[in-house]
Amino acid sequence: MSVRPRSRRLRAGLALAGSAGLVAAGLTVAAAPATADPAHTPGGPCLQPEQEVKRSSVANYDEVVRKLSQIENNSQGRVQVDSVGLSGEGRELFYATVGEGDTTFWLQARIHGNELQSTQAVLDILQNLGSSGSPDAQLIRDELTVIVIPMYNPDGSEANIRQSTTPTRTDLNRDWENFVQPESRAYWKLFSELEPELALDLHHMGTAPRVAGTDDLNQFQIGARTVAPSRLLPGQWDLARQMSEVSLNALEGYGQTHLARYSDIDITNAVLSRMLLGGTAPAGETPMEQGVTKGAIFYEVRGVGQKSNGYLANLFSRPTMAVLKAAADGSLYTSGWDSYDALPYGRSGSCGF
Ligand SMILES: [Zn+2]
Repeated sequence: MSVRPRSRRLRAGLALAGSAGLVAAGLTVAAAPATADPAHTPGGPCLQPEQEVKRSSVANYDEVVRKLSQIENNSQGRVQVDSVGLSGEGRELFYATVGEGDTTFWLQARIHGNELQSTQAVLDILQNLGSSGSPDAQLIRDELTVIVIPMYNPDGSEANIRQSTTPTRTDLNRDWENFVQPESRAYWKLFSELEPELALDLHHMGTAPRVAGTDDLNQFQIGARTVAPSRLLPGQWDLARQMSEVSLNALEGYGQTHLARYSDIDITNAVLSRMLLGGTAPAGETPMEQGVTKGAIFYEVRGVGQKSNGYLANLFSRPTMAVLKAAADGSLYTSGWDSYDALPYGRSGSCGF
């Protein structure tokens, strides 16, 4: 296993990772807190802690660590797994790197711990990019450097809550201004070093969201904007819509997937917002300038449903692979955005991006 020059973070011993490794390292893993995640508005709750039965098919932290190690070991050197530091409870914050292209693409999942299938989706994508000999996988590896974060919030994931498990119960997707949490500081640092041009953030919504004006089950929402377009550079807003268009086209005709767009939000302290705007940094660090990251959007897939986990994971992986390929072959940058412009809004069901 070679250590790439760009890997400047500590390299954690994967063989010792997971709870056994944490115990061996003298760290303790706190029990999941009993406090329920407060309800989100609008649109009702995401998966709640009492829905334990449905979580059994979803990889927990230790399984994610094992899977990352397996993918790395089977990748013939194409995938490298590193840690950016430790979570609030002392879990290693793992990410994987695949590809050696000039364009860095940041693919992030599970910043909200109770939003489940996104983790499986990015692990599937990582495995594909790491081991497939297909022309698409090869092109993506040649043209992009893909940073894959399968579980941004491992503590919240283990506890099945949206936020951190620290007493502040910080929403990690509102923490790129104050940087209260170690996860925020660690991932920001990595982001500022790698300067990704493109970013994709995977979320879930409620279990029965609808498309506005209809009773159609809305299984996939696209979030092209997290801040008002007037605050973006013109090219950033164009590229967000182009990423959205490619995503929507990849899902056209796929199952009973009624597509919608997320409401027009303007959330300054969200991670994607700060990637696009720059201007903030943890204490002692230098903020990034606006424009380093040229395009950043998010997906929301319908919440967990019985026996549909594979389908829900595909609702993430199909459009994600399409955007990766379009970024690699350049078609992303010449796309229009007619489908995005024609898209209805989602009516309800958001967990709150
Ligand atoms: Zn979310």
